[in-house]
Amino acid sequence: MSKQTDNPLYEGKAKILYPGSEVGTIRQYFKDDATAFNAQKRDIISGKGILNNLISSHLFPAIGQMGIAHHFIEKLNDREQLVKAVDIVPVEVIIRNVAAGSICKRLGLTEGESLPHTLVEFCLKDDSLGDPVISSEHVYAMKLATRNELDETIELSLRVNDFLTGLFFGIGIRLIDFKLEFGRLQTEAGSQIVLADELSPDNCRLWDSKTNEKLDKDRFRHDLGSLIEGYSEIARRLGLVIPSLN
Ligand code: UDP
Repeated sequence: MSKQTDNPLYEGKAKILYPGSEVGTIRQYFKDDATAFNAQKRDIISGKGILNNLISSHLFPAIGQMGIAHHFIEKLNDREQLVKAVDIVPVEVIIRNVAAGSICKRLGLTEGESLPHTLVEFCLKDDSLGDPVISSEHVYAMKLATRNELDETIELSLRVNDFLTGLFFGIGIRLIDFKLEFGRLQTEAGSQIVLADELSPDNCRLWDSKTNEKLDKDRFRHDLGSLIEGYSEIARRLGLVIPSLN
């Protein structure tokens, strides 16, 4: 693993991007850094990156089998995966099935309240502004994405939600909400919107179906117990073999 030797293209809160082995590819390195509340709460949780890489490397190909276009190519090692280079759309898509987190604070909903239908929200991907919630009108006015791109993004997000809700239901887990990021992939046919970033318990709320125990990053946000135990439980239920986390 070449975290120390290559020059990164970009370093984010949870991942570092390096040039990939071939043109048009990128190596995503998963760090152990945990941040919450716009990085006001921080820690390093040994093994978190390994678990996120493991889970994300399992979920992306599964989503691909449903015909949903994505950036993932292959898992390279415990901490890295090879992905297609895309131009990230600076809009975070939040999908909500059940009220939790910021929507409860913003709208006074009760945590755990089922929503009458799946909600799609957009946030501007800008840490300096605290990733504010925006509407589709803001997306168009700020030229963050075209109408066609946003339509495609919504359609793909809802398909990902249907698929992941069923997948997690089958292993006794409720998919409460999650965040997706999309990118523009340049192909011979033109620019295509594909799912990018990661699919992991860092970006999803996942509750045990019977007990409602939180198995996701809320364990870190609200000091609810070992984050590694929660993420490991998700990986185990997905049937994944967990490597040494040191
Ligand atoms: N989320 C994320 N990154 C963000 C904001 C949210 O991955 O920058 C995920 C979060 O883990 C949850 C969902 O998106 O699964 C909804 O998050 P919410 O808006 O409730 O914000 P939070 O309560 O996490 O501040």
